[in-house]
Amino acid sequence: MTNLFDLGGKVALVTGGNRGIGLAFARGLARQGARVVIWGRDATRNAEAVASLPGKASAQAVDVREEAAVAAGIAALGAPHILVVNAGLVDKKPSLADIDTAAWRDLLATNLDGAFFTLREGAKAMIASGRGGSIIVCGSLAAFAGTRGLEHYAAAKGALAAIVKSMASELGEHGIRVNMVAPGYIRTESAVSGDRAAEIARRTPLRRLGAPEDLEAVAAYLASDGAAFHTGDLLVVDGGWLANLYQ
Ligand code: NDP
Repeated sequence: MTNLFDLGGKVALVTGGNRGIGLAFARGLARQGARVVIWGRDATRNAEAVASLPGKASAQAVDVREEAAVAAGIAALGAPHILVVNAGLVDKKPSLADIDTAAWRDLLATNLDGAFFTLREGAKAMIASGRGGSIIVCGSLAAFAGTRGLEHYAAAKGALAAIVKSMASELGEHGIRVNMVAPGYIRTESAVSGDRAAEIARRTPLRRLGAPEDLEAVAAYLASDGAAFHTGDLLVVDGGWLANLYQ
């Protein structure tokens, strides 16, 4: 029997892959046979993540805010078959008025500039390889729905949702598919906690927050030939949160 989602022989680059959702994406890809390379700034966490992954994983200490470092990282790696643009931070403020210019620029430097540098440099290498491939961008419910004090975060995720559509349009002729996975509330270091987490679980149709493991399979699917005709899409994995009008 053949495995619909086999990734044997593929190289996957996962930014922000040393913990949380990125590590789950990396594990999903590695479990299907991909050789995973993770990017993160913290060398200790990178090493711990590599040790925890099946197969021949490795890491590069790359800060995605640094344009030259992103280009150098891609040049050192060569073209990946699978590119997961996940590195990002959450910076919830009490309200819009509390998002000062420094906070705006700081968040966009990682979540939008860093993602753009990685997408552009990764796509250039993938086009030059002539092998096609799959690009997966980590979005958020913030691309679809509002939360007070997260306007800067929403701006980045909304922009990425739009970039995914444009890139899918442009790169299809190279056999490169581009999709976004928008996770709901997932238990990671960046996640909500305490009373707010309990309230979100109560309002979620599946009655819990997500675990990083809930994102493993969707990455493997989108990366695989099983998704050969799937591009330009935004996939929501949120336990039904967005579907629930009566939250
Ligand atoms: P975590 O804080 O657990 O992990 C963030 C990851 O990004 C780490 O690996 C971190 O590594 C890396 N990272 C941060 N800044 C940089 C940088 N400048 N360069 C390279 N790597 C960087 O966050 P999550 O796993 O929760 O979030 C991952 C993605 O998921 C983000 O894009 C986030 O917006 C999105 N998301 C999260 C949700 C949630 O509920 N948790 C919901 C929806 C979307 P290091 O610090 O070592 O650089």
